[in-house]
Amino acid sequence: MCGIIGCVTEDKFVASILYKSLKRLEYRGYDSAGMATIFNGILYVKKDQGKIDEVNERLNFNNMPGNIGIAHTRWATHGAPSKINAHPHTDCGNKLAVVHNGVIENFIELKKELLDLGHKFVSKTDTEIVAHLLEENFKNGENFFSAFINTVKRLSGSYALAIIYVGEPDKILVAKQDMPLLIGVGDECMFVASDASAFIDETNKAVILQNGEVAVITAKSYEIYRVKDGAKVTRNPILLNWTLEMAEKQGFPHYTLKEIFEQPLTIKSALRLQDTYADLLTEFLDRGEKIFLLAAGTSYNACLATSYMFSKLARLTAYPVIASEFIENYGHSIDIGTVILAVSQSGETADVLNALEFARLRAATILGITNVVGSTLTRISRAYLLQNAGPEIGVAATKTFTSQLVVLAQLALRLAKKRGKIAQYEMDEFRDRLYEIPDVVSQVLEEVKKPVQELAKKYLNSKFFLFLGRGISTATAFEGRLKIMELSYIPCIAYPAGESKHGPISVVESGVPAFFICPKDETRKAIIGNIEEMKARGAKAIIIGSKDDKELMEISDDYIGLPDIHELLSPIIYILPFQLLAYYLAIERGLDPDKPRNLAKSVTVL
Ligand code: GLU
Repeated sequence: MCGIIGCVTEDKFVASILYKSLKRLEYRGYDSAGMATIFNGILYVKKDQGKIDEVNERLNFNNMPGNIGIAHTRWATHGAPSKINAHPHTDCGNKLAVVHNGVIENFIELKKELLDLGHKFVSKTDTEIVAHLLEENFKNGENFFSAFINTVKRLSGSYALAIIYVGEPDKILVAKQDMPLLIGVGDECMFVASDASAFIDETNKAVILQNGEVAVITAKSYEIYRVKDGAKVTRNPILLNWTLEMAEKQGFPHYTLKEIFEQPLTIKSALRLQDTYADLLTEFLDRGEKIFLLAAGTSYNACLATSYMFSKLARLTAYPVIASEFIENYGHSIDIGTVILAVSQSGETADVLNALEFARLRAATILGITNVVGSTLTRISRAYLLQNAGPEIGVAATKTFTSQLVVLAQLALRLAKKRGKIAQYEMDEFRDRLYEIPDVVSQVLEEVKKPVQELAKKYLNSKFFLFLGRGISTATAFEGRLKIMELSYIPCIAYPAGESKHGPISVVESGVPAFFICPKDETRKAIIGNIEEMKARGAKAIIIGSKDDKELMEISDDYIGLPDIHELLSPIIYILPFQLLAYYLAIERGLDPDKPRNLAKSVTVL
């Protein structure tokens, strides 16, 4: 998830405006940056790897000439961060420049087609095909707009695109599908950007583009069209009463809340796996003799959930292991038959890298899942998959947990297909439910926001919380505990509910709040027993269960009802109330949810 910006004026040089706007978008991605402008029929492009200021120091964006331009701050999804892969991308003839946020899913087939037609590609990105497709359409005598529409029609995946072309240097053409894009209507400049922070100090008049729309933006006008039937859309600007800070958070008071509500989008992105690499990982995992899922913190909880998915769907035993314990616990018995799937949001987690170095020297196969292309994990893995969640600014992981689960669920499905241990209809059912997840997530976030706020008010002074689940919900319990401890600083205990009688039930006394995670699955009956045993000792049962589970509702003190979901996908949905609760507990307790004390976003020390 990167940031794009475009600006067109009648008579001002736009470079310094673009530069200022780009800086505002830097939080969306920062592995490389670039800018393109047009002046006197010539396209100027500057780009390089690094943070915006570093790139600017080397290249000086501010002296680029022209009244029209586009710029980009990148968070790579295809092709490592490098000068060549940085945006804008150009066609063979250097006549047009493209910036893009998103993933073009069918870029491999389009690239083949364009290579056959003689186009020369310089980057490894998916984005570059857009420039060449347009160039190809120009060859058929089309004007900028019709070449653009015909290009957009061939794309599948997600995109916010902005393009300038020397042949028609008075306009920026933009398209939107599944990535945010707004037009900023200024008195002297017209903007287009990934979010309003890019232009909010110039204008608060914004037009929000919808999926399947393109727009033509000139210094004094904007026109919106629907791609599918070419119909013109009339939409007036809305007035954003946002400060710059609010605009960066898209109107949310904190990044954490923005990131929680971004999940329908980030999950959609995570559903767009690159087939070749997903197949490669599946192959290595299938062939492994001993499989470990290695991670720390939230990523470990995702690995724990995955071990249930791999076992139930693919009949594959994979051991989730906490990275800092790996060497002592298993390191000395690994060998060439060992496959380690390491999961790390940053790809730089020191405990993970340390364990991997140990394993690599003993010939284990290293695979990775990360949110950051170009991170150490991507460099040391035989093959890796990306979460495509965009940068996460809140220190507590929220959207990156669900995106990890979605990537891992797709791997589980591929393994199931490859190993053929379960019936086709079971795989189909799992796949269908998986693709419904973005909609379910957005529904749940809206529905549970209010009741969870009430819960936060009710339990804000609790001395401690218990979190109990069975089966895959154990992972949800662990992650719920982690979120609430991280953001509220209230001590929490979590364990598989069957363990109660083996010790932890001794802490229960009257009024202790205990969360029970109870999706409709095979563990439901057993956990009802655990709820009763806790209630008998005075605990308050706060149950997260199915919306229509009357029996659970009756025995609960508080109940959060969720839609039914495939049991192996339940952590993705059942974690949502806990993410929100952690956030609202922090607010109620007067804490900063974005920057919890004593914690760092990426733990790069051992
Ligand atoms: N897929 C494009 C790239 O990797 C855009 C990435 C993004 O949206 O962050 O360059």
